[in-house]
Amino acid sequence: MNQLQQYKVYFDDKIMDFNDASLSIASSAVLYGLSVYTVFPVNKTKRGLTAFRLKDHFKRLQESSKIIGIDSFENDWTYGKFVTVVKKLVQANGIDSDVFVRASVHVNELVPGTRTRGLKTTLSMFIYPVNAIVSSDGVRLKTSVWRRVPDYAIPARAKVNGSYVNSVLAKQDAIDSGYDDCIFLDSSGHVCESSVANIFIVRDGVLITPDTTGDLLEGINRKTIIELAEQEGLHVEQRPVDLTELYIADEVFLCGTSAFIASVGEIDARKIGNRGPITDKLSKLHGDLLHGSQTLAKNYLTVL
Ligand code: PMP
Repeated sequence: MNQLQQYKVYFDDKIMDFNDASLSIASSAVLYGLSVYTVFPVNKTKRGLTAFRLKDHFKRLQESSKIIGIDSFENDWTYGKFVTVVKKLVQANGIDSDVFVRASVHVNELVPGTRTRGLKTTLSMFIYPVNAIVSSDGVRLKTSVWRRVPDYAIPARAKVNGSYVNSVLAKQDAIDSGYDDCIFLDSSGHVCESSVANIFIVRDGVLITPDTTGDLLEGINRKTIIELAEQEGLHVEQRPVDLTELYIADEVFLCGTSAFIASVGEIDARKIGNRGPITDKLSKLHGDLLHGSQTLAKNYLTVL
């Protein structure tokens, strides 16, 4: 049995067994990658079982739907209904430890052609065990031969399943070349992000990350790291970043729901070094926040 099958899922307005939830081979979600999704952590904290930045995850799902033109999700769902479903799902599974939840909005019509408006959507939610996609220290990155899909083609800002073919190509290229993950550049050669995580560098005590016009996903942890850094009095710059700035940075790290905070040890055969003090500090603050012991926690944790 696959690990995922142990959990009950939410699909088509009901809680059901994992194996009972399925999309048709002729659905737009399957044929064209027409689903938008998000993954959020549910953690055991001092406040009980909590979801991290749930409102932001729901908002990003809605914004992704709006960009792609999946209008029925925008019209049919409210944040209140979404929270109720998350609560039902964790209760149905008796969750008592840290897990991830993946929520997807699928365009679920049979062969309606390459369009989105006015089509039926189905929301699915499933639970899976927390499993970091890269190790927390010494990650080795390779600049990808594949460029990030630009905003004028498939917007990275919309978390749409179809565009993840781009991430899969780049990640597999990195693995095939003996690295752990990739760095995406945009069409003009600036740094965007990794396959499924945002990227930060530290140069002379300044925290720098590509700005949100740089063909990247507006990561919820990216936003969180910026807030935590500002709270600590660090100077943060959001601006175009050259690849060579990564090579000579004092510290480089990835951040995301499933990457957590992962320090980068090597890029394109150039040593970056061990986990530095700023990465270490931000990583600790981020972990504390997820588990409820941080001043920002009262704003960001939804008790389930
Ligand atoms: N970039 C991409 C392409 C991603 O898929 C993810 C993971 N959702 C991220 C960045 C990080 O986003 P978040 O912090 O919201 O998990």
